[in-house]
Amino acid sequence: MSGRILVVDDIAPNVRLLKAKLEAEYYDVLTADNGPDAIELARQAVPDLILLDVMMPQMDGFEVCTRLKNDPRTRHIPVVMVTALDQQVDRVHGLQVGADDFLSKPIDDVALFARVRSLLRLKLVMDELRQREASGRAVGAISDTMTCFGDSDAAANILILEEDLSRAERLGRRISQQNQLTLCTDPKEASQLLDQQGFDLLVINLVARGFDGLRLCARIRSSDNGRAMPILALVDPHNREKIVRALDIGVNDVLLRPVDANEFDARVKTQLRCKRYADTLRQSLDSSFELSVTDQLTGLHNRRFMQARIADALTRLGRGVEPASVMIADVDFFKQVNDKWGHDAGDKVLQELARRMKANMRAIDIACRYGGEEFVLVMPGADLNAGLQAAERLRIAIEDEPFELGGHHGTTRITLSAGVTELEPGDSHESALARADQALYAAKNAGRNCVKSIEKAPAQSAAGR
Ligand SMILES: [Mg+2]
Repeated sequence: MSGRILVVDDIAPNVRLLKAKLEAEYYDVLTADNGPDAIELARQAVPDLILLDVMMPQMDGFEVCTRLKNDPRTRHIPVVMVTALDQQVDRVHGLQVGADDFLSKPIDDVALFARVRSLLRLKLVMDELRQREASGRAVGAISDTMTCFGDSDAAANILILEEDLSRAERLGRRISQQNQLTLCTDPKEASQLLDQQGFDLLVINLVARGFDGLRLCARIRSSDNGRAMPILALVDPHNREKIVRALDIGVNDVLLRPVDANEFDARVKTQLRCKRYADTLRQSLDSSFELSVTDQLTGLHNRRFMQARIADALTRLGRGVEPASVMIADVDFFKQVNDKWGHDAGDKVLQELARRMKANMRAIDIACRYGGEEFVLVMPGADLNAGLQAAERLRIAIEDEPFELGGHHGTTRITLSAGVTELEPGDSHESALARADQALYAAKNAGRNCVKSIEKAPAQSAAGR
């Protein structure tokens, strides 16, 4: 996996050494020797990862990290702090300002590349989400207020798997204040729990003698439920091979034993923050998809979605699976509603009409607002006769009950004219809708409040029958 990495250190030989190591592994390397330059470069070049020295004159690594994480342009870039001393207090401070990981000098190559690969992999997933969200935002489907960085302190659901129950309880006490904890000593039981419900984080002891934690992590990563769940693993600092394999399998973070309470708490918070950020992105993507196929006023589908469904119906017709019909309906004299009682009243009428349309169609029918006061119903499986019956049912449902106008306006009666056509082989959605539109005009010309159809053009082979 290649990527662009920004190396920040005030001492030139350190920079040269890291640059050489990373370039040997085909990473693209940028460098800076002070905080302000690093921030500027991060904004402009947007690297995939930043290796940040803690001890620098003027602006130290903590300050640089704080600024990067407070800037929407750079906050998604993973930051690995490089500390001269393996000081726990530095680690905790770093995590508090948003650092994603640590390396201590002198930098161990194996640890370096395992961290780099793991963080780049995570960033790849986040980038894809961010990109899809950005395109949603560009078409106006996602508003700027919908995405926050996941800083909420809402309770998280955490599973702790540790073979010794008293150790599990001790771990739990360190993070139990605002979170929902499930303690578990058996990997089989943990697997079942993970299948049954979603967790926000798994804390797993990889040093356990009674089970193979790595195997479970690998299985979780290949399951639907566990693919996106963060995993924090407790490891023995001397077992470098296991640390590297854990990160390669997809464990998000490792914590060295003996466990420092503050570092544990800070790493848990970091993982939960990332998870919430990813969840928020996914949710806004889901709702943007919903918005992109929905008419906002009526909640019916929009024109784009309807065209795609007509195309589907044409494909099934072409394969000889089933017929399909299309109706276009138009509210009679709708302009008078707007002119007499205003646009709010007009909107209320359209909303109620949409509600009656949904109440009077089959579950497989697709109701769409075509524009203004025009509606389209796509009816898979319906031949012309069935399509006409459906349209007539809707026409009666509209005519029968008066419509509320809102405010002090009371109610009014509304009628609907509709045109129906059956899809033909060789149709496009344009030609089908054009025929339905012709039928609609026939209904208007026949005095409105009625349904008309255009017969299928007689096929060549049926000529003279
Ligand atoms: Mg330094």
